Amino acid sequence: MVERTGGNRPGSQSALHTANRRRIVELLQSAGEMTQAQVSRATGLAPATVSNITRELTSEGVLIAVDPGVGRKGLRLAPAAGLVAAIDYGHRHVTVAIADMAHEILAERRSDLETGTSASESLECASLLLEQALADLDVDRFSITAAGMGLPAPIDSRTGEVGALSILPGWVGVDPAKMVSDRLNVPVGVDNDANLGVLAEHLWGAGSGFDNIALLKLSDGVGAGLVLNGALFHGRDGTAGEIGHTMMDEAGAVCRCGNRGCLETMAATRSVTELLEPRFGPALTIQDIVGKAIDGDTACARILSDVGRHTGVALANLCNLFNPDRILIGGELAQAGELLLAPMREAVGRGGIPSATDGLEILPSGLGARGPILGAIALALRRAPSPV
Ligand SMILES: [Zn+2]
Repeated sequence: MVERTGGNRPGSQSALHTANRRRIVELLQSAGEMTQAQVSRATGLAPATVSNITRELTSEGVLIAVDPGVGRKGLRLAPAAGLVAAIDYGHRHVTVAIADMAHEILAERRSDLETGTSASESLECASLLLEQALADLDVDRFSITAAGMGLPAPIDSRTGEVGALSILPGWVGVDPAKMVSDRLNVPVGVDNDANLGVLAEHLWGAGSGFDNIALLKLSDGVGAGLVLNGALFHGRDGTAGEIGHTMMDEAGAVCRCGNRGCLETMAATRSVTELLEPRFGPALTIQDIVGKAIDGDTACARILSDVGRHTGVALANLCNLFNPDRILIGGELAQAGELLLAPMREAVGRGGIPSATDGLEILPSGLGARGPILGAIALALRRAPSPV
């Protein structure tokens, strides 16, 4: 029996064509602007197929094809394909951004939040900012097709709830994705800020082009986001990357996790400022400490170097386990630059086996404080329904 082609039966030419169109659109949705050759390589489709489908999608208004040149790669999704919203909560602020399918941020609003604000009040604030951002663009909230959200907290990937180790006490036990999707009625992705930071670095920052990267955040908390084999790694429950709770000293200070001598008790911003209180008093900031170290204060330089060294010991273990291409350093303490990074590299060199650290680069994060909001956009773009 000869099977007739046509129709939309699985395996038919038309079904294959539809699947290929969707593959190309979904690739551009998650990766942003690409050349035709990159699309062909990433999808495994023949250049002629990519070229045909591109022509078709362009005439339908789904794609925009521009001449590749300086800063342009050629193919991107049309802005009209839909908008996504991103919400990023920090310890004391919330940022809301709206982006289009071509990965361009169109509007952004930010507000300070009191520490300890409840989840519902925090969401109310984000909701107001979103309304303002939509008004800036003169569009209504029905233009939003998906949302991404970042929190400086572990998110249980089985229940969606914020874990007890959060530095945002008002959010513990809350299911933030459900709260936002109930309000916006669109798919919502939620992840912690280190994971979103590394996702953004992988797509647009210092991790672009590398499949195995870690982003270490040295801030109020200490945590890492991991991209392994090109994908974000969460572990079973979403707890992967809690490098701040690596035990460094069995008899050390008690950590907020209940253990003793965790890296976080030595390398979080509060631990660093507290150590220097006897010399400079309680109002010292990380910026002050870095400034004083650059001006030659030995105590400040010593403390920053110690943070680098201790962190390097934990990172050496991470290298031995995961053999990353790059480790990117972010968070408030990253502003210490080489004062922190040089001793960190030395400790990684000492504690990591050569085959796990040869060729490794330890660099400041490329996107800095912008990482989590950009990562929330990346997450939203992955949740957005395909326009074809
Ligand atoms: Zn701990």
